[in-house]
Amino acid sequence: MSKMEEMKKIRDEVLTLKESPLYEYRTANKYFPVIGEGSHDARIMFVGEAPGENEAKTAKPFCGRSGKVLDELLVSIGLDRKSVYVTNLVKDRPPGNRDPEPAEIDLYAPFLDRQINIIEPKVIAMLGRYSMKYIFEHYGLKNALNTISKIHGIAYTGKAPYGDVTVIALYHPAATLYNGSLKAVAMEDFQVVKKYL
Ligand code: URA
Repeated sequence: MSKMEEMKKIRDEVLTLKESPLYEYRTANKYFPVIGEGSHDARIMFVGEAPGENEAKTAKPFCGRSGKVLDELLVSIGLDRKSVYVTNLVKDRPPGNRDPEPAEIDLYAPFLDRQINIIEPKVIAMLGRYSMKYIFEHYGLKNALNTISKIHGIAYTGKAPYGDVTVIALYHPAATLYNGSLKAVAMEDFQVVKKYL
C-alpha cells in the first residue's frame, strides 16, 4: 500500500470510529476529525494535543491563532507547513477544548503510531504535555519524562519501530499567546529542532 493509501485508511477508520467518546459530539456539531496535514516524506512531525473548534470545523490541524504562531516558528527555521507533517494525539475535538481523557488517548494514539511508522520522521516534536507524555512513554524515554518546563527544547534519542528518532518537547503555541515571555523560549527551542533535521 502507498503512504497515501495507508493514510487514507487511517482517515476512513477514524471517520467511522463510533466507539469513540468524542464521536457523538463530532457528529452533533457537524465537526470533522483532524487526521493531519503535510508531507508524507517529512523529516519532522509535529504532534499537538487535540483539535480545537477551528480545526474541527475545517479538518485542518493548527489553523487558528495557535497555528499562526506555529507558522511563525516554522518560518524562523526555514520551514513551512508543506515540508513538515502536523497532526495531533487525539483526532477529534474534546468538548469545550477540555484536556483529553486517558480512554481517549488510548483509543486515538495507535493512529498516531501508525502515522509515525508511515512517515518515519527523523524528529518528533511534541506540542503540549499530553503528546509529550505519550511519546516519551511509548518511544523508550519513560525515565527522561519530566515537566515541560524542565525538558522543553532538549533533544532525546527515542526508539521507534523503524529505528532511532530524535524526540523534542516544545511549548504549545497557545502557551506563548497566554504568556508572552514564552515566545522567545519557543524561538530558541525551534533553533534546537533545526539542528536535528
Ligand atoms: N491545538 C492543538 O493541540 N492542536 C490543534 O490542531 C490546534 C490547537
